[in-house]
Order: sequence, then C-alpha cells, then structure tokens
Amino acid sequence: MRIQKQIDRSWTEINLKNFSDNLQALKSFLPANSGFIQIVKADAYGHGAFEISKKAIELGAAFLGVANIQEAILLRYQNIQIPILILSPSLESEIQSIIDYDIIPSVSSIKFIQELDNIAQKIDKKIKIHINIDTGMGRSGFDYKSALKNILKIKMMKNTKIDGIFSHFAASENDFDFSKIQQQRFQQIIDQLDFQPSYVHISNSSGVVNINDDFTNLARFGLLSYGVYASEEQRKKIKLKPVMDFKTRISQIKSASKGDSIGYNRTFIAQADLKYAILPVGYADGYDFLLSNKGCVLLNDSICKVIGKISMDITAIDISYISNVKIGDEVILLGNGNEKISAENVASLYNGSAYEILCQIGRRAKRYFKENGNIISTSPLLRREFVSLDYSDKKLNNIIESAIRQRLQSNEIATIVYENVLKHLFIEKDRDIHYRENFFHSIKFHDFDENYYLVETTLSFNKKLLADYFIVACAQNEEVLETYFMRKDVEYRWLLDDNLMMNKNYFEVISVKINDIELEHKTSILKSCIEIRCHSERLQELISSKVTYSISTKTFYSKKSHQMTVFLTEMTKDVQINFDFGNIINNVEAVPIFSGKMKYPEIEYLNGMVKVSSQKNEWIFPNSGVVFVY
Ligand SMILES: *Cc1c(COP(=O)(O)O)cnc(C)c1O
Repeated sequence: MRIQKQIDRSWTEINLKNFSDNLQALKSFLPANSGFIQIVKADAYGHGAFEISKKAIELGAAFLGVANIQEAILLRYQNIQIPILILSPSLESEIQSIIDYDIIPSVSSIKFIQELDNIAQKIDKKIKIHINIDTGMGRSGFDYKSALKNILKIKMMKNTKIDGIFSHFAASENDFDFSKIQQQRFQQIIDQLDFQPSYVHISNSSGVVNINDDFTNLARFGLLSYGVYASEEQRKKIKLKPVMDFKTRISQIKSASKGDSIGYNRTFIAQADLKYAILPVGYADGYDFLLSNKGCVLLNDSICKVIGKISMDITAIDISYISNVKIGDEVILLGNGNEKISAENVASLYNGSAYEILCQIGRRAKRYFKENGNIISTSPLLRREFVSLDYSDKKLNNIIESAIRQRLQSNEIATIVYENVLKHLFIEKDRDIHYRENFFHSIKFHDFDENYYLVETTLSFNKKLLADYFIVACAQNEEVLETYFMRKDVEYRWLLDDNLMMNKNYFEVISVKINDIELEHKTSILKSCIEIRCHSERLQELISSKVTYSISTKTFYSKKSHQMTVFLTEMTKDVQINFDFGNIINNVEAVPIFSGKMKYPEIEYLNGMVKVSSQKNEWIFPNSGVVFVY
C-alpha cells in the first residue's frame, strides 16, 4: 500500500532534490577553503526548517542561521546538533537559553556582550560568539568606523570567545559598486586584527554569485538555495530550480454573462460571456491580496488569470480558453512548470518581494517533502511549531521525571521515557508518527560455555519504508546505545556485554529481509559499536509504502546477568515477544513496563518459554518493554 496524499484544499510540495541541486550549484562558486551557513530563518523561508536543515547538513553545511533563539531551540529539540548562529541581535533575557542550548549569538552591542560575559562567568563557561559589523547596511552591527576598538574590547573578555566576525551586504543582487565598498571596509578591519577568528563571512547567496570575495571562509546561503533568483542577471550565472510548489484544486466551475461582476466590490465585470473556476485559497493562505485582478495560475499546462478581488479564502480564475476542466483538477499557484508562476514573477506582479511571498505562502497548507518523486515526509497543517518557554524550566522537568521514576522505580528507564514523552508532546505531536505493526520478536537462549549463552534473535514487523537502507546496531555501552535510539534509520539495537569484543564473532546478522527481498548487509566496526548497513537497490521503489521487515541475528549474553530486557522504541501495534530459554534456566518472570492504554499485556508461561502479547489493535507507546527476570 502506497502512502497516498490526502485530498487537501491547498498544499505545498518541497522538492528536496531541487534544493540539493541548488546547493551544489552555489557551492561551486565558493573558494576551496570556504564552507557555508544554511539560512533557515522563518522556517527556512517557508520551506520547513527541520527538513531543509537535515538536507543541508547532509550536503556539508557548517552552520545553520536562524533569526532568533526560539527558532534555534526548536531545531535543538529536533535533534539538530551542528552549530546554530542567530543572525539578529538577541535580547539580554535570552542569554540563559542561548547558553543552555549551545547556540551562537551574533553580537552588535557592548552592553549585550558584557551581560553575556557576566552570566557565563557565573557558571564558568566560555561562550562562542560572532561579531556583527555594519559596513553599510545601516541596521544591526557595530559601526565599521569604531568596530576595531570594540572587537579588541570583546577579545579581552574572559568568558566569551570570538568564533567569527561578519558583515552583511545591503544590495548584493544589484549594486556591485556599493557591495565592493562594504567589502573593503570589512576587509580593512579583518586585516588590522592581531588574531585570526575561525570564521569570517560577508556574502549572502547573491553575494556568492555576484561578488568575488576571497578573504572570507564562510558564505550564507538563503534565497538562491531555495531556487529563487534575486535578480534577472543571475539567471546567466547560475542555474537554479524552485524548491517550493504551492498547489490547490478547483472546487467549483461557473459561468458569467457579459456584464456580470465577480467578487467583492465588483472590481471585475465580464466583458463577454465567460467560464470561471473557484479555488479554495485566498490571502489567508498567503496568496497575496494584491494579486487581485493581477495574479495568474497554471492549470493543465495553461496560464489562467485571477479575476476579481482575492478574498480571505477564495480566488476566482478565468478558464474560458481551457477545455476539459473538472472539479478537483490540480492548479499550481506558485513554483515549477512555467516561468509566469515563479516566485519572482508572481511577486513582481504586485511589486512585492519574492522573499516575502515564500514566507507567507501556504499558511494553511500541509507540506509534503519529496525526493525523486516520492513523498518522504509531511508536516502538519498548523505548522507554526511552538516551543513552550516553560519547557526549559527545570521545575517542570523534575516533576515529570520524578513521577515517572516512581512509577517505574528505575532512574535509567525513567530518564529515557521522560525525554521521549516530552519530545513527543512538544515536537512530534502533530507530525508523522512512524509506527510498527504486527511486531514479533523472539529471543532464544542456548547453552554455550560457563560464561555465556548463545542467543538467536528474530524480529519482524510492518512499517513504512523511509529509505533504501537501514542500520542494525550493536553497542558496547549504554551511552553509545543511546545515540542509536536518536536515529530514525536504525531499526534494531543490541547492547553487547562489555567483556566481549566488538566483532562479527560476537554479534552477527544472519539475514535481513524487506518483504521477500534479501538485503545485502555490510558490517562496520566502529569505536564501541558495530553498525550493519542493510541495503538493496530494489528498495528504492518501495520507499513510502508499507513493508515487512525481518531481521535475525546471532550473539551472546552474559550468564552473570539475571535479566533480559526488550524495548519497544516506536509506537507499536500488535506486539508479541517470546523469550525461549528451553531447559537452561528456571523460574523466568516477565515484568512488563508497557505504557499506552493497556499497561498489562497477556503473559503466558509455557514449558521453556514465556510469551508476552498485547491486546489486538491496542497501541503501545515508545519505550515500553518487558524485563525477563530469572
Ligand atoms: C537572511 C540573511 C541571509 C540570507 O540572505 P539571502 O539573500 O536570502 O541569501 C544572509 N545573512 C544574513 C545576516 C541574513 O539575515
């Protein structure tokens, strides 16, 4: 079963392949030693900061750039770990969060940096900062004339470290002379420094293609990376592909006679009989009011004009010249397919800004992230993702954690459960939840020698396939295991006794299948862990459909331990876990730690085996599990 797109009134499609291609094209302009910051402020110009960040990191982004601490915290909750730079000046009240979440502020005032230094001093930390210099933008930043003096002052501070110094072009898309002046002002300051900051940067994406700059080592990719040109001349220099499509469907088809009016205030009067269609989007969806009587859309590869005023939720288009139009037909309002509906052109129709239209479009639209034609994830309708400031409040954390601890009587498990519960509550509540069905796990012990049991495990479940590979991981300690819990591409984890060596003799994958496809598996021995990458070319066409995973392994388990724990790491339905110990162990007891509606699964004690199974169709929450004690 393929995951179908729902019938939406309007939606955006984010083409991650086009985004990668744009990044490659931009990177080709950078000098060899230069990295880039992916700018993901304003939810990545409306494209979805989380998915865009992940892709940019994959393609080598050294930093992410955001507008404020809230945007930064959200990325941290989503487990984004690379350095994040806040581009705008922060408030003093935000310093504590900046430190807590390991975010880099940009600094434009001595008062702010003194406060930051004071707070950092109290907790004995050294905080990285980037200094912003105003070379002609006339906005934030230290004035270039007195910047050197201020930089040296900041350098004396004990608890801050100058990681970078930057400036920002005012008109890199069309005023090259002024940009050169800004560049010279900036370079003069850098040349006078008696130290070398790790990062020096001035170019935004237009700067990268328009202004040759070889004394910096970082570029900030924004608009152009989203496939939108900042000026016409750029088309000759770089080939970009729009990343966002904004689409809707025809909800009604009507006709008007000569002289009839359409829409509020009767601004459109039919000059002849005509046929028109109603689209269920308006300015509340980000389709700008100023496109009234001006906008155009793409229907069946033809351009149609917007007629009448755009309402809050409704727009009318003239379809007189198009045949075979049906209710439900797809209409592209912005994006690929025709130059006329590019963000640049749509914005120019009302003298607007392409930057702005990207940020405002699709306010009520669900996002579909696509790669090579497949939908790989979605983000919800109301996507203004919200981070409660209370979340960082230690008090709240403690209350929840201690409640869980009491219930589970285990600190370790309590911590994992609590982190995941919060993660789900605050971040993933509304997202795609990846879940497993028909989960079957069997663990069979055999006698081996005086210290170890030989263990055969088999695991099978149904789940939506996310990529053409997945990882089976075996870790030597809890800390390493923990990192595998964070990763979405890991489908099975095993904790190996720390007296055993990390090699194939002690943990081996016997077979891995998706449906009937036998996967190739490649073992990498890493520090304190073994990673087995399971892959097949044939998986490509199954991505985003529901498949059956089967994994079997062989390993060893210490006889010193008197318990064996099985965790459920995802939402799971229809669980069965069998612990098969034959005649080698006596008195096994199964202790379930299930959370979900049902806390007590059915436990069956058979001869040489314990079977634990959930009720049919009941959901079991992540980090449930069973401890077999003996
Ligand atoms: C937004 C922003 C950018 C990105 O600019 P584009 O023109 O979109 O490439 C770069 N630098 C700073 C400081 C910004 O605020």
